[in-house]
Amino acid sequence: MCSEQTTPEERETWPAVWKGFRRRCPNCGSGPMLSGYLTVRDHCPVCREELHHHRADDGPAYLTILIVGHLMAPLLGFVFMEFRPEPLILFTIFAVGCVALSLYLLPRLKGGIVAFQWARRMHGFSAPSA
Ligand SMILES: [Zn+2]
Repeated sequence: MCSEQTTPEERETWPAVWKGFRRRCPNCGSGPMLSGYLTVRDHCPVCREELHHHRADDGPAYLTILIVGHLMAPLLGFVFMEFRPEPLILFTIFAVGCVALSLYLLPRLKGGIVAFQWARRMHGFSAPSA
């Protein structure tokens, strides 16, 4: 079944974050973490790991803006200096590019943050249900 499951004592952070970035359960890596575009499931449908403890809040949006801004702003300057395209063409390409990259990154970064919280046992991820 889930060969990568860890014992309750050890949760490796970066493998879990990578699983989360792929929008998979941080525990087993095979169950989908999100039920919609951004909705985190209460439980993993494969290993039943509880995922409802997460408090991602504005973190994914913050990271998305940080990454998209730091990628697209220098690229915009480079394209402008190198190719001098028509302003409307430049605007159209970068507007679509920024929106597309943001929509791509947002659910993946949310998965990564939820997985990070899971791996570090934050916000109730550690509490065994009694
Ligand atoms: Zn799972």
